[in-house]
Amino acid sequence: MKKYEFLLFDFDGTLVDYDRTERWSLAEAFRQAGIAYHEKSYLPEYTRINAEMWKDFEKGVVSAPELRVKRFRILFQACGIEGNPELVAALYVSNLSGSAFLFDDVLPLLEKLRPRYKLGLITNGLKEAQRKRLALSGAGMYMDGVAVSDEIGIQKPDPGIFEYALRDAGHADRKTTLVIGDSLSSDIQGGINFGIDTCWFNPKGKTGVPEIVPTYEIRRLPELLGILGEENH
Ligand SMILES: [Mg+2]
Repeated sequence: MKKYEFLLFDFDGTLVDYDRTERWSLAEAFRQAGIAYHEKSYLPEYTRINAEMWKDFEKGVVSAPELRVKRFRILFQACGIEGNPELVAALYVSNLSGSAFLFDDVLPLLEKLRPRYKLGLITNGLKEAQRKRLALSGAGMYMDGVAVSDEIGIQKPDPGIFEYALRDAGHADRKTTLVIGDSLSSDIQGGINFGIDTCWFNPKGKTGVPEIVPTYEIRRLPELLGILGEENH
């Protein structure tokens, strides 16, 4: 007998290679703005500035709309880039919300799972962007149920969004549900709050935290097949 019948996936950072999606969006924004892009120097600088900005955001020093533009103003100054940082900032956000590159092993995995499991998606994000990106990525057609936080007004780790995802997929049994996600604080904590088993997708081998313990931990998504006992099928 199968232990799990419903697999609930997080989107960004789990099915979607978010780093690659960011890299592409950045390069594309410069191209669209007609500014030469030097990834080797701009990308690490942008990554550093962006991380600093998010720290400021968490401290309440900067608002989200300010952050979006300010990181590019600082980047332009730091790298001596001529051009309009406001324009690049706007293009970048628009590219980000209109693109989604899946990790290479995702579609073959979903293809393998689809005949034997119900599949669902649970994501914190804006409804239009997430629905569009899901369709664009090619993963949308595999999903029996989809829960986007902005659509239902509840976000992970609130158990309400999990409840919605199960209902949307027509699956009532929590015991046979497994959530798979890269975020301990939203996916794993959310799964724990909802009372289902959890699988932490940890591709970069980050150190865990003692207060949020997943049922399973994997470095690569296909390792999920081992957990499901599907390796010989
Ligand atoms: Mg994620």
